[in-house]
Order: sequence, then C-alpha cells, then structure tokens
Amino acid sequence: MKLILLGAPGAGKGTVAKLLTKMDGSVQISTGDILRGAVQAGSDLGKQAEAFMKAGDLVPDELIMGIMEKRLQDPDCAKGFLLDGFPRTIPQAEALNDLLDRIGIKLDMAVNIDVPRDVILDRLTTRRTCSNTDCQAIYNVKSNPPKQEGICDKCGSPVIQREDETEEAISHRLETYNEKTAPLIGFYDKQGLLMTVTATDSNDVIEAVKAKLES
Ligand code: ADP
Ligand code: ZN
Repeated sequence: MKLILLGAPGAGKGTVAKLLTKMDGSVQISTGDILRGAVQAGSDLGKQAEAFMKAGDLVPDELIMGIMEKRLQDPDCAKGFLLDGFPRTIPQAEALNDLLDRIGIKLDMAVNIDVPRDVILDRLTTRRTCSNTDCQAIYNVKSNPPKQEGICDKCGSPVIQREDETEEAISHRLETYNEKTAPLIGFYDKQGLLMTVTATDSNDVIEAVKAKLES
C-alpha cells in the first residue's frame, strides 16, 4: 500500500504506520525519525535541521524534499510505503505530487487520523521516546510505560522526553499543525484521495484502512 498518514502531532501516525507495515511489508517513512537520526549523527542535514526542530518549527521544505526524493527511490519502497509526518505543508504536497508523477508512482490514499485536542495534549505531555535513534520506540508514562522505568523494552537504551515535548514547544507544534498542515486535508480531499478516521485507538484506524483498501 502507498499511503500518506495525516494528523496532528500525537494523533498516532507512527503507531498506525508500524502496525500497517506488518500487514504487507510496506515500509514506514518518518521524516521526524530521519531528522532526529541526522541530528544525533551530527550530519550536515542534522546541523541544518536542529534549531527548527528544537523550537517546534517546521524544517524548510527544500531540506525535506531532498530527503524524500532519495528515500522514495530506495528499492525497499517498491512494495509500498507509509508516509508518516510528510507532507506537512502545501508546497511539500505539491512537490510530492510532481515527484510521484516523475517516478511513476500512484498513491492509494491519504488517511486523516482525527483525534480530539484534549487527547492529543494529554498524549504528548506523557509521551516518552527511546533515545536510541535506530529504535525510537514510543512509550507513555500513563498508558504504556516500559517494563523497567526509563529503560526501553526493545533495546535497553534510556527512554526520554523529547526536547520538543515541553509544554511550550508542544503548543507551538499544534499551532503550526493547524496553520500549515491541516490545509492538506482539503488538498487531498479535492484529489479524491482523502479518508478520515475518527478514532483514538490505533487498532480501529487499522481496521478502517483495511476495510477501505479491500473495498
Ligand atoms: P510529531 O508528528 O510528533 O510532531 P515528528 O517526529 O513527525 O513529530 O517531527 C518532529 C519535528 O521534525 C517537527 O516538529 C519538525 O521540526 C520536523 N519535521 C518532521 N517532518 C517534517 C516535514 N515533513 N516538514 C518539516 N519539518 C518536519
Ligand atoms: Zn529502544
């Protein structure tokens, strides 16, 4: 499957993407994970992206398109992909359309995961992430804590609160979402690709996507 996952920060895009990869071997492509990896590695890309990310601002479209242009042409994308956190702006969505036309790929749909704002806020402040950039497993201090406090179940690395998950950066990220990313819902609706799922349980989102793909 070739899907875009839309939704506010904390809507569960990453969790849904991981569940979907298990269905048919499609790969998850998270621009947030790629960028955090680059920041930790101290690469050029990381150096250019770091300050934007820390403040909860979007990284410039050119940098993101540079990453995606390469990534979408990697052989593992042939089976399918789940775009998690990309596109995030109308210019990125337009550039993605051009890129897909050029490389001859057609999207199945854009899934908008719609979650109430109070649930989002609660999730983001209680979310914890594995600090190992090859793992980046997600936990929640209330609903899904690691077995041993502060230690990742999967790889044993420390589990931390992301630097952009302070209250200030979170409210800024939500504003940025409303202003820059929410317009993509109308953009994909116009193209006849939009599916909106209102659900707080990621398994319900998966079921809805499966049903739609099979119909
Ligand atoms: P979340 O969806 O939880 O906000 P992500 O992990 O997707 O977080 O992204 C973290 C940060 O990485 C964003 O706040 C932004 O600075 C940057 N980023 C990720 N994807 C993009 C993108 N497509 N365009 C611009 N910036 C991005
Ligand atoms: Zn881990």
